[in-house]
Amino acid sequence: MSVLKVEHVNYIYGAETAYEIQALKDVSLEIPKGQFVGLIGHTGSGKSTLIQHLNGLIRATSGHIYFQGQDIYGAHYNMKELRSQVGLVFQYPEHQLFEIDVLSDVCYGPKNQGLTREEAEKRAREALRMVGVSEEFYGHSPFELSGGQKRRVAIAGVLAMKPEVLILDEPTAGLDPKGRDDILDQIAKLHQESGLTVILVSHSMEDIAKYVDRIIVMNQGAVMFDAAPKEVFRHYKELEQVGLAAPQVTYIMHRLKERGMDVDTDATTVEEAKEAIVSAWKKKHDSAGNRCENV
Ligand code: ADP
Ligand code: MG
Repeated sequence: MSVLKVEHVNYIYGAETAYEIQALKDVSLEIPKGQFVGLIGHTGSGKSTLIQHLNGLIRATSGHIYFQGQDIYGAHYNMKELRSQVGLVFQYPEHQLFEIDVLSDVCYGPKNQGLTREEAEKRAREALRMVGVSEEFYGHSPFELSGGQKRRVAIAGVLAMKPEVLILDEPTAGLDPKGRDDILDQIAKLHQESGLTVILVSHSMEDIAKYVDRIIVMNQGAVMFDAAPKEVFRHYKELEQVGLAAPQVTYIMHRLKERGMDVDTDATTVEEAKEAIVSAWKKKHDSAGNRCENV
């Protein structure tokens, strides 16, 4: 059974006013437990609107959403429970840090869930460890931290509620390249170690290509592609037409192929590209060798 299922969801901002915007168009998808999903699309494609449906913050204009098989729009459904099960880290989450110190900030969620102070603190420490914030910062004001550290604290705040699904809306926005790589590595590690279902929202293929199991591409409120990264990048020309680029490696591999090198164009990371080029080189070399032997 999938952990989340979205069925023919439409969403209109300002429904029945003169300013209607259809932000989601017949979106259907299923997310199995433990999957690491990248949700990609350029600005305004509906990513943030979609993820806010997944924890009930926005209610679909039409369609259904199921969490662990249950219809979240069902009469007796517990929306509060859903919000703690589907943890949503907003874009620029550091804007919502407010407690006096890091540890108190991360304790806020579990305390709100009704846990005792000790239990909440235990959860908070565990969550901070999971996102790689070291103990020396626990007593600091969240506002003294670097951009990347603040973001980790905000993610820990959601993790401390022990969600089943973790959704991160553009977690790399505004970070420098090092901060971006650090946070993505940390999220990947978290996914590996915890087995959490993770949905990572991004407008950059380059960012997420090497991490996720699956990419869902949104365009103008609809799902354009939904497949494994390699499969999605095969459509690099169509992606370009909607303002999204495949990872640079994809272009390099296609160019090599066009120039007659028999490389695997599905390579998406630098590491894979290296292997593909070496292997194509060897193949060429071996067959040249064989030909010589045959003469
Ligand atoms: P993304 O996260 O992919 O950038 P959004 O889900 O934020 O996309 O936006 C999808 C569409 O809905 C866009 O056309 C955007 O302008 C519109 N939209 C988003 N939020 C609101 C809102 N609060 N009121 C009206 N329109 C909105
Ligand atoms: Mg957004």
